[in-house]
Amino acid sequence: MILFEKITILPSAYESAIEDAYLLVGDDGKIAYLGTEKPECEGAEVVSGRRRALIPGLINAHTHLPMTVFRGYGEGCELHEWLNRYIFPAEAKMDRKTVGICTDIALAEVLASGTTSVTDMYNIEPAVAERVAESGIKGNLCRALTSFASPDGFEWSGERADDAALEAAELYERFHGYDNGRIKVDAAIHAEYTSGPYLWQKVEAFAAEHGLGVHLHLSETKSEHEECIGRWGMTPAALFEKYGVLDHKANCAHCVWTTPEDHAILARHGATAVHNPVSNLKLASGFAPIVEMEKAGVNVALGTDGVSSNNSHDMFEEIKLAAIMHKAVALDPTLVPVETAFAMATLNGAKAQGRENECGRLAVGFDADMALIDLDSPHLYPIHSLLSNLVFAARGSDVERTYVRGRELYRRGEWRTLDVERARYDMEHYVFPKIWG
Ligand SMILES: [Zn+2]
Repeated sequence: MILFEKITILPSAYESAIEDAYLLVGDDGKIAYLGTEKPECEGAEVVSGRRRALIPGLINAHTHLPMTVFRGYGEGCELHEWLNRYIFPAEAKMDRKTVGICTDIALAEVLASGTTSVTDMYNIEPAVAERVAESGIKGNLCRALTSFASPDGFEWSGERADDAALEAAELYERFHGYDNGRIKVDAAIHAEYTSGPYLWQKVEAFAAEHGLGVHLHLSETKSEHEECIGRWGMTPAALFEKYGVLDHKANCAHCVWTTPEDHAILARHGATAVHNPVSNLKLASGFAPIVEMEKAGVNVALGTDGVSSNNSHDMFEEIKLAAIMHKAVALDPTLVPVETAFAMATLNGAKAQGRENECGRLAVGFDADMALIDLDSPHLYPIHSLLSNLVFAARGSDVERTYVRGRELYRRGEWRTLDVERARYDMEHYVFPKIWG
């Protein structure tokens, strides 16, 4: 048991902060008490809350963890040149060990900045899942599938199965439901422009058979959106609706160029649009119409995208940008209030992951997925509104401790489950020579 005493607690994006509160984490990793009276808790580890705040752990709803190795690599190019000249050739040299090492560095950054659950899409995802399993963080993981290797056919096993399909099947078999649901596996289509109808039908059937969500990139760039209309006579959202892909709790990354009709489609199917403001600005993709999407009833979550196009996993940056950039685009400072921006990184992320009954807020019976914020810094003082400070002034480095299911995974530069020095050594002595040697 852990008792946080005399601490400021922000239970959720839409609730007021409670001063001098107590929060008790039970041995089952769930929140056993939250209130202003000290609970009975003999033998509990006590954490003083002086100048500290407990907030719901942040949820990164779209990333590519191993791409951390590409931080600062091949900057400043046009998207196509960047992918073809820098990223794809380097990715082709990555093996399981490489992916695992890069994931460890990513998870260290993720945990140190208060994120308690990630939605990840990458190649060789079983190697990501092994590290997520070991680290203690929550994850909705998927193997990104494309039609490059098998344009005319696609099978999950046997002679016609390519490596990607075998990895996707392995990921599901080994990790779906791991540790009482701490890891969930999604089916995945990388994007419309990297795949075709045969793959979409197979992925849709796989999701239906196993009751999985589907993760995909949707209308990230103007050219992608328009070329899809040219190829199929409809937008990516309409196309994936036609193939039944959106029937499976779809997690649609980006949605920068989606139309009002697309938003109606996404809302109708209970899909999530994942807003990635830093990536969209850095790659000059555009401004996702999240205000319109929310009005249409679409669940809007937040993600960092891969570090290669960000260049960090700090969700506080995404929250701040989501809160400010749409005001300027529409010349309206009332848009995306702080509650909405913070909800995207917590409540809405939990909903996107199908975890709305276990995390995204601090409440009795919910998992103790939390970040302890150090408020003792000039840039977080004074506190007229804790939520405003969290959205506009806080940084990932203000996180002092991170807990998942009540387990402390990070405290002030120390990781309980990750050997970061080892990962750094392996990055330099194995990953760099492997990719660039
Ligand atoms: Zn992405």
